[in-house]
Amino acid sequence: MRPHLLNPLFAPVTTLPGVGPRQDKLLRYLLGRDETPRLVDLLLHLPASVIDRRAQPRISEAVQGTMVTLEVTVDRHRPPPPRSPRAPFLVYASDDTGDVVLTFFRAKPGYVEKLLPVGEKRYVSGTLQTYDGMPQIVHPDRVVDQAAFARLSGIDPVYPLTEGLALGSLRRAIAQALQKLPELPEWISPEVMRRCSFPPIREALNRVHVPVELTDILPDGRFWSRLAFDELLAGQLALALVRAQLRRPAGDRHAGDGHLRRSIIDALPYALTASQRAAVAAITEDLRQPVRMLRLLQGDVGSGKTVVALMAAAAVTEVHKQAALMAPTEILARQHIKTIAPLAERAGLRVAILTGREKGRERREILERLAAGDIDFLVGTHALIQDDVVFKALALAVVDEQHRFGVRERLALTNKGEAVDVLVLSATPIPRTLVLTYFGDMDVSELREKPAGRQPIDTRAVPNSRLDEVVDAVGRALQAGKLVYWICPLVEQSEAEGTEHLTNATERYERLRQRFGDRVGLVHGQMKGVEKDRVMAQFAAHDIGLLVATTVVEVGVDVPAATIMVIENAERFGLAQLHQLRGRVGRGSEASTCLLLYKEPLGEMSAARLKVIRETTDGFRIAEEDLKLRGEGDVLGIRQSGLPGYRVARSEVHGQLITQARDEALRIMRDDPKLKGERGEALRCLLYLFERDEALPLLGAG
Ligand code: ADP
Ligand code: MG
Repeated sequence: MRPHLLNPLFAPVTTLPGVGPRQDKLLRYLLGRDETPRLVDLLLHLPASVIDRRAQPRISEAVQGTMVTLEVTVDRHRPPPPRSPRAPFLVYASDDTGDVVLTFFRAKPGYVEKLLPVGEKRYVSGTLQTYDGMPQIVHPDRVVDQAAFARLSGIDPVYPLTEGLALGSLRRAIAQALQKLPELPEWISPEVMRRCSFPPIREALNRVHVPVELTDILPDGRFWSRLAFDELLAGQLALALVRAQLRRPAGDRHAGDGHLRRSIIDALPYALTASQRAAVAAITEDLRQPVRMLRLLQGDVGSGKTVVALMAAAAVTEVHKQAALMAPTEILARQHIKTIAPLAERAGLRVAILTGREKGRERREILERLAAGDIDFLVGTHALIQDDVVFKALALAVVDEQHRFGVRERLALTNKGEAVDVLVLSATPIPRTLVLTYFGDMDVSELREKPAGRQPIDTRAVPNSRLDEVVDAVGRALQAGKLVYWICPLVEQSEAEGTEHLTNATERYERLRQRFGDRVGLVHGQMKGVEKDRVMAQFAAHDIGLLVATTVVEVGVDVPAATIMVIENAERFGLAQLHQLRGRVGRGSEASTCLLLYKEPLGEMSAARLKVIRETTDGFRIAEEDLKLRGEGDVLGIRQSGLPGYRVARSEVHGQLITQARDEALRIMRDDPKLKGERGEALRCLLYLFERDEALPLLGAG
């Protein structure tokens, strides 16, 4: 249970005065929450910049166009004349060096009179302008009296906002949340506190929200860094705790004598590559260890990860346990089962698929067989983590394209068995810092070579103006019996308001159909699963030769006979995405071609991306170039520089802190793995604060 002292921070923001249903809605959107945000969410929403109001010139010395704070006496009011209510409300004020006009448009009746009473002294901040030769401030950002002024540093934080949410009201809410901040125990070791010159968390939060110096809000400054470290430590500790609790007893190992693996190898129509063999060997070794496996299998598109996963599943089946493979989409799950089923069948491995599409009786039967242990390897989507999916003895969870799943989803799957081993498949080389933040310490196997006999892909960039030639070339390819993908960025025009030039997949489909008749098919994300499968199957069976598609074919789709891909508006895609898309061709033994259609003129970034993609098909190189072009966070398609699931820590600023947090977590695990002592108590508090408490029930009471 969450420590009582944190309760005030988990109160909904709507308990704050001045935060009503309208603010609630805006704040949900701003803070990315489905439910009403809590005070803690506000406090972890950090400023993006500051306004410096410390310049306090006298009126005669104030420089036009700069931000100033003036100490003035209010002399007189000039409300808009009754016959022109649209005229501004003017306030004349002065100090002993000169006069200034404060101008308010569309002021509510009584508002200005109350803000700036005649005869009173006020501190007024805003950008100074000149109008008719008079110094003027239009809509001062801030007007305060002496008492309030004494409390302000003159540096105001500016927060990321959302349409409709005023900076002032967000600031007021955050200020109120700060008032509720309880006294928190220190969870960081004195040694780290010293080495990193961290302030206590209370001071850190206060200083980023109420900066005293301009540098107080910088992400690499000590205040923000302290908070980032807290967040990273919570993450690392949670991962380490989960992992440590799951040692298996001796005599309960997850790999058998190898007979099923041998049958699969015999059934394979090809030989495993050296790196596939090495990966299988490493996994098998892990499965024999008393500590749970946490291994990332990283391999470019088409490198053959699925069969490695199957070998791992076979190893656990040899000791009569079960394996599961969770894929992020239905198409992918079906793709896996298509590769796996024939091989598994010949080896005597019982496999099944479970997605949102298996319903009613069919689903019930699958669940019954699963619980009875009559399914060895279950492949599926999120449907696998539903509560009523019960395994007899789940020992291995394979998670494909993990970065699309959160930690909670992964845990939901691994919690369905005892000391479940985890194998993560990823086509995207994940930078080390990100691996750490996602998984903590994790072993990595790489599939660096392509299966033998793969031909290079001939990639060319072609301007839109040559579309007709491209269509002609596609026509010739279809005549020759080839399979062609035609990728368009969006399905409906309405999705692309303001970007009308983006080609509409349905529209392109219609046009190509006029030319090539029923040799053309269409598949996009808004189609029903069965529909998609039907079209994909037609394509694989050569019933259609030209498949117009949106990016639903981006990951995992495997039709080895397809050899040509046209990508429209290629300039709009990211590098990783282009690489993934292109990976759908060049999967068989025939030479393949990829045409990148682009709209002119080409921007600098787009030109650089297309150049990289033309020059190489090496996913690792592409990922490196991508890093250079976009920065780390974006490799996984995460906007800006944020780390997924992290609010304060940023990969490019806090990379150093990630390893330090990892080391600190390891030290804690060595010294007090059950979090029992006084510091353990404080660390529990940290885990609750950042909502990384998922492992605590495994530890028992503190
Ligand atoms: P990915 O790593 O992208 O998931 P897949 O596992 O889908 O790749 O494999 C891509 C294709 O390569 C599949 O058709 C698979 O049968 C084939 N394949 C896998 N390993 C080999 C190999 N060693 N030799 C030849 N083909 C292979
Ligand atoms: Mg795959």
